[in-house]
Amino acid sequence: MEIEKKVCIKCNQEKNLFEMAIQKRSTHSIMYRNVCLDCRNEQTKLWKLKHPEACKNFQNKEKEKKKDESYQKKISDRAIEIRRDFPERTLLYAAKQRAKEKGFEFNLEMSDIIIPKVCPILKIKLYYCNCCKNTPTLDRVDNEKGYVKGNIRVISYLANTMKNNATYEELMLFAKNIKAYLNKKI
Ligand SMILES: [Zn+2]
Repeated sequence: MEIEKKVCIKCNQEKNLFEMAIQKRSTHSIMYRNVCLDCRNEQTKLWKLKHPEACKNFQNKEKEKKKDESYQKKISDRAIEIRRDFPERTLLYAAKQRAKEKGFEFNLEMSDIIIPKVCPILKIKLYYCNCCKNTPTLDRVDNEKGYVKGNIRVISYLANTMKNNATYEELMLFAKNIKAYLNKKI
């Protein structure tokens, strides 16, 4: 079993692996840095404050580069690649951020994330795609509870958005009537 925790050398806190910054890699293997993402973000923020000129220059250069479509594609391909190669980490870190923002409880670890081959609801393949429909997302089974052990499953983004705002009763009603509605029978 993989060790799931590491101590950050900046804040000295024991963190889950998915909360650590990752090392640049040449293969699909992942290397964790000794600094957590929170500390690294903090370092970046401080650097920006200390070096406003350099930061502005960098932003301007990026702005210029982004006008180039092939550069844009390269960035989005790279982002998808990272998510695709480390999907559990991606899902966990995003969930942790969301939990922090919305005040949900959070106690998940990497081993809690099990990504099935197909979405259990829509039976479509789960993978990171540009249109997002097939992208794996964490679903809180019981909306009253947070991102806690036993309360999450991985489903497609599409299924997640479909189920997102409706209650169980509303979903049942939807399933019951949608076919007739689309066939213009009601
Ligand atoms: Zn830290």
